[in-house]
Amino acid sequence: MDLRNKKVTVVGLGASGLASALLLDENEAIVFATDSSDSEPVRKNASFLKKKYIETEIGRHTESFLEGTELFVVSPGVDKDSTPICYALKNNVPVISEIELGCYFCRGPIIAVTGTNGKSTVVSLLGKILAAAGKPFNVCGNIGKAFTGEVKNITKETFVILEVSSFQLERIETFRPLISVILNITEDHMDRYRSFKDYEDVKKRIFKNQKDNDITILNYDLLKKMSPPRPFCRTFYFSAEKKVEGAYKADGAVNVFLRNKEKKLFNLDNLNLKGEHNTENILAATLVALLIDVDAGLIEKVIKDFKPLSHRFETLREVGGVEFINDSKATNIDSTRRALKSLEKKAVLIAGGKDKALSYEEIVPSLKKHVKSLVLIGETKEKIKKALKNAVPLVECNTMEDAVGEGYRLAGKGGCVLLSPMCASFDMFANYKERGEAFKRAVEKLRNKS
Ligand code: ADP
Repeated sequence: MDLRNKKVTVVGLGASGLASALLLDENEAIVFATDSSDSEPVRKNASFLKKKYIETEIGRHTESFLEGTELFVVSPGVDKDSTPICYALKNNVPVISEIELGCYFCRGPIIAVTGTNGKSTVVSLLGKILAAAGKPFNVCGNIGKAFTGEVKNITKETFVILEVSSFQLERIETFRPLISVILNITEDHMDRYRSFKDYEDVKKRIFKNQKDNDITILNYDLLKKMSPPRPFCRTFYFSAEKKVEGAYKADGAVNVFLRNKEKKLFNLDNLNLKGEHNTENILAATLVALLIDVDAGLIEKVIKDFKPLSHRFETLREVGGVEFINDSKATNIDSTRRALKSLEKKAVLIAGGKDKALSYEEIVPSLKKHVKSLVLIGETKEKIKKALKNAVPLVECNTMEDAVGEGYRLAGKGGCVLLSPMCASFDMFANYKERGEAFKRAVEKLRNKS
């Protein structure tokens, strides 16, 4: 893609916006960058770009700044009705996402992983597997390392293991992975999409440009009805329930059925990655790795050694006989449902946060089955309370420290406290990591007191 001497405006100056602006600059576009916020990180990134003589406008968007733009590159968080998007619509200017820009310049084959939950776990597992196999790879995207920032490190041989969110898929045109994976699609981001179908349609865009020998991998148990469009070549599945062409669980082990051959690979017991949801993640990662010719023995070894990522069903040290589990990354209902299902005993659940227009009624059966008491925090307290209609006993707290204290008291010796909020964190914290760290600090404080 020749963007030389074209005015390209980058909208959103977080990490991916910054990386996009720099990539465009290296490729001799005339780069402008703008963000409606003027928060500290945005100001820092803007001043970095200014030093490279890149024009910036922060804290607002003006039409005069946007004038003459031939292409917009938008960051995932940018609103559909923000000034630059309206300007683009009015003036017929193309708008692309950061991953679309990245793939204009990317030389390596892309393995793109999307889904409501499990993306970071699967791309991290794949990174470890490829490292063990000695294959060149680069894990990037939504996991926190911008794709456009990595493009310069990617050669023709590098497998790009790209974590892709629905927001990033909204504005792709030519983005074409060699392998695309959809792990699952469950209710999320209903404050962004008009309906669940809209959200699902955006996720499906991951395979819209695939052809020839490209591969699509789908979760059979959840997505069997989703038929990838033609022209299309190969679709494989993974399933925790049924024999499928691909990878599946049978008799407690990972099995594969590929090229008309069936094989048992390894048992799923004694793994650090616990729960049915992680079995699905393991099946997906195993299937991808086999399809790019990684040895099954190596895959098994990496999976057996793999520790869960922080803030994803992460077991902390006990305090006074009470177990604490940090699942702060659970920001939607299905992730919390899966965490509850993975518990070995009834727990006190700490939940609540910033709403994404989700229907909390759906969690009621799981709460009844797996939860002793509920400790509610954050903006969604009232909405959750209303949806649950006294299904389980609950208390309300205003701080994480109080919630942990209450959880400890309610769980009692031999009990378990699970932080799995079902909501975003932005009402009380900068992100899920800070929320998880606050949980860990509160648990530590409790330890020092007891
Ligand atoms: P993502 O990158 O898609 O947010 P993560 O691997 O970071 O996924 O996990 C996010 C949350 O979802 C965590 O609470 C984790 O325990 C849960 N989770 C992980 N894999 C799955 C899955 N396959 N299905 C449902 N929930 C999952």
